[in-house]
Amino acid sequence: MPDSYPFVNTPLPYAYDALEPYIDEKTMHLHHDKHLQSYIDHLNETLRTQPRLQHMTLEQLICIAPRLPPRLATAVSRNAGGVYNHRFYFAGMAPGVKGARPKGELAAAIETAFVSFEAFEEKLTAAAQSVFGSGYAWLAANRRCGLSIVTTANQETPLTLGLCPILNIDVWEHAYYLKHYNKRDGYLADWWNVVNWEEAERRFAACKSRRNIRMPNA
Ligand code: MN
Repeated sequence: MPDSYPFVNTPLPYAYDALEPYIDEKTMHLHHDKHLQSYIDHLNETLRTQPRLQHMTLEQLICIAPRLPPRLATAVSRNAGGVYNHRFYFAGMAPGVKGARPKGELAAAIETAFVSFEAFEEKLTAAAQSVFGSGYAWLAANRRCGLSIVTTANQETPLTLGLCPILNIDVWEHAYYLKHYNKRDGYLADWWNVVNWEEAERRFAACKSRRNIRMPNA
C-alpha cells in the first residue's frame, strides 16, 4: 500500500506495555493514539484540498514544504514532520533489548565518529538534554555516511538538512511527563534500554544504499 494521503495511524510494532518498565503503557497509549493521531488528522485535513500533494510520501512532503506558499508550508512541515518523527521514534524502540549494542557497519561508524560507544551515548544524551522546549535529538548520516548528532526544534527533521536519520529521541514533555514529570534525564536513561539497534542498522544500510539524499532545493 502506498504511504500517502489519506495517511492512517499504523499500529505500534509492539504492545503498548511492551516497553515497561522503561516507557510506561499509559504514555505509549497517549503518545501513539492521541498525539500521533492528531498529527495524522491535521495532515489529512491539510492535504484534503491539495490534490497535487496527495500522492506524496511523508519524506517528499517534508522536503517540498519549504517551497510551498507560507501557510501551507507551515501546516505541511509541522504535520508531515509530526507523523514522520513519531513513526521513526516508535520504530526505533523495541522490547527485550536492554544491554544491546549496535553491530557491524553501524558500530564501526559510531566508533569512527565518536571514538567509543560510551562517548556516543554521552553526546547523544547531552544533545537530548540541551533541546530547549520541544524537539528531538537525532543520530544521522551525511552523504558520505559519516555520523553526527543533531537536534531539531518542534517537528523539524534532519531530512531538510540533507541528512539521513538513524535514530531519534522525542524530548517533548508528553514523551515522559506522566512517568518522570519534568525530569528529562530519567526518561533519557530509560530510553537507552529500549533502543532498537537492529532497526538502526537497517536504517544505516538504507542510508548507505541511497547516498543521494534528497535535498529540498537541489
Ligand atoms: Mn511526541
